[in-house]
Amino acid sequence: MSDLDNVVSALRAAPSVAVLAHINPEGDAIGATLGAALALREAGKVTAAYNASPLPPGLVSLPGADTLLREVPIRTPYACYLVLDTSDLTRTGGLLDSRPGHGVVVNVDHHAGNTRFGKVNWVDPEASSAGEMVYRILRHGGFPLSKIVATNLYVAIQTDTGSFQYGNTTPAALRAAADLVECGAAVEQIAAGLYENHDPREWRLLSEALATLQVSGDGRLAWIEVTLAAQQRAGIGLEATEGFINYARAVRGVRIAMAFKEVSPTEVKVSLRSRELVDVARLAEAFGGGGHRNAAGCTLRVPLAEAKARILAVAPSSLIEDV
Ligand code: AMP
Ligand code: MN
Repeated sequence: MSDLDNVVSALRAAPSVAVLAHINPEGDAIGATLGAALALREAGKVTAAYNASPLPPGLVSLPGADTLLREVPIRTPYACYLVLDTSDLTRTGGLLDSRPGHGVVVNVDHHAGNTRFGKVNWVDPEASSAGEMVYRILRHGGFPLSKIVATNLYVAIQTDTGSFQYGNTTPAALRAAADLVECGAAVEQIAAGLYENHDPREWRLLSEALATLQVSGDGRLAWIEVTLAAQQRAGIGLEATEGFINYARAVRGVRIAMAFKEVSPTEVKVSLRSRELVDVARLAEAFGGGGHRNAAGCTLRVPLAEAKARILAVAPSSLIEDV
């Protein structure tokens, strides 16, 4: 039995399934969660979708987004807890800490550093996205793939591949996406919801962030900062900053892009992006974070200037494989 077979068996056997993903979710975490929850419900199971964080604005119009819950109930046990796109259990934001009963934890993820915390684990770092993995579960298990399920899974694949631009845009990802479009995924509405749905305050914060852009002497590192003061001036917080780092990454010649986001005077969330073989997951891990080779993050409990100094001191060593 393959890991995928084991996941399908566990889901088939469970009359009730809670579906959840990591905190600070993006399109993959939410699209995969909602897609799986809706499909399992259509298959007759008692199901709900959970996330410990509020939804980013681009995702609130996804089918089923209004049913997403912030806390797993402590009274009603589920037969199964399907955890998606989450490299270790702490990244769920404590959602399962006080769960009742002995539900089977099923861990489906594409992060190479996944800690295999489930009773059943399917970890495939070759998969473009958790959404693609859910798609494979549904197809392999003969679960229904309705229009609303397809829409959510398409969002997951589209967002985690950077709209089919990153290196994880594999034939398998494109085939899954094509099949999802055939199942009715609402491609045009998804794009409008994700990319043409900005609050003007986000662009004000972006203009502040872009004004901080710096590039290292060799041109290979670029970084921006999003200070608390800028967030206050723009009237919007870090939830609006998801795509900002891509502007630093898009500077000609840049191999590692960084965004230093001030959460409080003594806490900084660092986003890291790289190209090709340059591995920022290892860089993030050195600071207690994680992620993928080309997209990772970590949180430092120090002031902004200190966080920047610490990361910039070691980031050049990540360029060694870059030939
Ligand atoms: P972000 O820069 O927040 O968009 O995160 C990029 C990637 O890094 C995502 O795949 C996250 O799952 C991962 N990541 C971000 N922050 C952390 C963290 N503190 N610990 C582990 N993984 C993280
Ligand atoms: Mn993902």
